[in-house]
Amino acid sequence: MVHVWIMRADTPPVEAFYTDRDKSVCGDCPLRKDAEGNRICYVLLHQAPASIWNNWAKGEYLHLAEYPEALSLMSRKAVRLGALGDPAAIPYELVLPIMRDSEGVTGYTHQWQKDFALPWRETLQASCETEQEAQQAVQTGWHYYRIISDYEQAKKEEIFCPAKTGNTQCSTCGLCDGKSANVVTIVHGRGKRFFRRRFGNEDVVAAVEEEGEW
Ligand code: SF4
Repeated sequence: MVHVWIMRADTPPVEAFYTDRDKSVCGDCPLRKDAEGNRICYVLLHQAPASIWNNWAKGEYLHLAEYPEALSLMSRKAVRLGALGDPAAIPYELVLPIMRDSEGVTGYTHQWQKDFALPWRETLQASCETEQEAQQAVQTGWHYYRIISDYEQAKKEEIFCPAKTGNTQCSTCGLCDGKSANVVTIVHGRGKRFFRRRFGNEDVVAAVEEEGEW
């Protein structure tokens, strides 16, 4: 897939995280660092994002205008918007040339309740952490991508992300295109225990903690 990374130009991603400047590319995403410094987002900022940003800062990426063949090369691939960052943080028109001839677009936004995200409604999934949010997303015309804890089940009207059962990858699945399905996945990454505590059922969380499973 073509991966679109959305990062600040003036601040490396790890520094943006520590200084809260990542808000300009991640908005008020609840998976960002909270007041206690706990972060749920699974993206490891010191790995691919840091490397890509450093290479970009050294001038190792060409601007699209300097590489006219790029769009035709990318047109043969599926596109993932927001490998880091929220696509709604950038103008829709900016990525239109990349999306137009692609073999499908997947992406997610936590900004789906904001008016400025409306142009993205049939392109991105509304990112949700609770059933209430998911219901609200549907009522406002969005398809959603909901994260659940590992003791929860998908509902019958939801599709469990097939990548998590090892059957496919986003490039061939393409369900998260803002118009095909409501998708559920189990939280993963280092921050999953913070997810359980912030969004999980209180009784279950207390029981699991008592058994020392975390
Ligand atoms: S459902 Fe899973 S595999 Fe399919 S596009 Fe969404 S995240 Fe990727």
